[in-house]
Amino acid sequence: MILHRGALRSGIELAGALSLMSFCPQKCPNPDCHSSTAFIRKGHFRIRRIHLKIRKFQCKSCKRIFSSRTTKPDYRHKKMDLNFKLAKLIVEGNSLRSCSRILQLSYSNTYRKFLWLKKIVELHKDKLKCRTHKIQFDELETIHHTKCKPLSVALIVSEEYLLLEAQVAEMPAKGRLAEVSRRKYGVRQDHRKEKLRESFKNLTKKLVSPPEVIESDQRPGYRQLVKEHFPQSQYLQYNRSEKERLQARLHEKQNKKKFDPLFPINHKCALLRSHIKRLTRRSWCTTKKPENLQLHLDIFILMQFVKSF
Ligand SMILES: [Zn+2]
Repeated sequence: MILHRGALRSGIELAGALSLMSFCPQKCPNPDCHSSTAFIRKGHFRIRRIHLKIRKFQCKSCKRIFSSRTTKPDYRHKKMDLNFKLAKLIVEGNSLRSCSRILQLSYSNTYRKFLWLKKIVELHKDKLKCRTHKIQFDELETIHHTKCKPLSVALIVSEEYLLLEAQVAEMPAKGRLAEVSRRKYGVRQDHRKEKLRESFKNLTKKLVSPPEVIESDQRPGYRQLVKEHFPQSQYLQYNRSEKERLQARLHEKQNKKKFDPLFPINHKCALLRSHIKRLTRRSWCTTKKPENLQLHLDIFILMQFVKSF
């Protein structure tokens, strides 16, 4: 491949020159046209924001003009370089409003970009494959704007501390708030079991082979669920109250270095509360729409696997 001498001046220009040279259309983007080979080159255009020079093509049969950008998910985005930056910022403990201040975007544009990230999550969903020896699962509790509307998040973590699955579920309020919650917001549904089942179902698609060991705490119904999805795996349950008693005793002895069998999942729960701003306790940044919390968690999972999109 012969490159323009000017194009070799900087890495950015080199990348631009390569994209200009390398794209070769395979198919016309017009859904009504079935032409696959007859294209002519039709000049080029430059995207100054990302220093790219892009060639345009024209279909000989339907006369549609297109380029490599036409089929990209960020087609017609004016600030396409901020999409990945936004995804990075929201999984590093920033709220959407703080992201908008950092990126110098308006809040509505930031929010629209955040919703657009769902397209990227959908695109990568089937491509994420993982191989692990051991998995742990648990449920994390958070709120939907008020403590009277609690939400539960079913989490599955691999031995390598990777978050593999997260599903948000509606749950009724507990304790003293239960009565207040029923009076103010009506009876809340309990979707925790279904969502945990859904996360196990999604996990079976994501894993290359079933895990050898599955660990969790002792909550009723967990054993049945594991048996349904991974009948061959060894299932270990740890008693939480026993662990707490042990920790209290250890505290007396001032010997904190005791092995916690569920450390990966507990560590991930703590990490999520720090890295996803809306999961932070005692904060005014709360989830206003449960579907956005789900998207936020999906972006977190995706960002563990991808370096760019
Ligand atoms: Zn065409």
